[in-house]
Amino acid sequence: MATRLRSEFMSALNLVLFGPPGSGKGTQAELLRDRLGFVHYSTGEVFRDHISRKTPVGVAVEQYVVSGGLVPDETVMAVVSAFLTDHAGRSIVFDGFPRTIPQAAGLDKVLAERSAAVDVAVLVDLSDDEAVRRLTSRRQCRRCAKIYNLSFSPPREAGKCDDCGGELYQRRDDSEAVIRDRLGVYHSQTRPLIEFYEAQARLTRIDGALGRDRVFEVLSELVDGLKGR
Ligand code: AMP
Repeated sequence: MATRLRSEFMSALNLVLFGPPGSGKGTQAELLRDRLGFVHYSTGEVFRDHISRKTPVGVAVEQYVVSGGLVPDETVMAVVSAFLTDHAGRSIVFDGFPRTIPQAAGLDKVLAERSAAVDVAVLVDLSDDEAVRRLTSRRQCRRCAKIYNLSFSPPREAGKCDDCGGELYQRRDDSEAVIRDRLGVYHSQTRPLIEFYEAQARLTRIDGALGRDRVFEVLSELVDGLKGR
């Protein structure tokens, strides 16, 4: 038993997915969860949940999330540290976190404290115009958070989640004006992560325009390679 637990722990991976809003990283993270058993950790989803429950964290972050600005690093790191404490030893896909250099350095630090590290940081890249096109037709389930796109992955029944029957809605920050602001924030705050992870030889780039299935194939091969190390 001890050996089994140790080998499970040893094979736990920490995978960071980043890219512009609309690149499909949330969808890829869902696939990694459903097909490869990763824990999907989306800070955006965590914040939306806090906002809908009107918790103190929700009240503190709402203005940033609704306007497309970034939640302050200290607030983000506090929720991430609490999450990591609860999920020690599991394979995790970080979706939309880190989004700044201080967050990336903070993640390295909290993982190191747990004798772990980021195994790979995957940039899912996409042009701004394509991101805007995709995001304006994105819809999400209010109940289970599953993501749809009215152009290329519509629900079977309009307005209704295929999985749980929940109501589909358009995120308030998916309007074109807010999307352009989020892209600006991405370019100034998050794209510098490319150099950060490149310097650590942990960066892999995937072209988000390849589409959902091909991007997932590339990701799966990457995960297989890491597990086989
Ligand atoms: P997302 O669902 O990843 O697009 O995130 C939605 C919004 O949540 C972002 O526009 C930010 O306001 C906030 N947010 C999510 N993750 C982070 C993060 N790592 N750092 C700062 N703000 C974040």
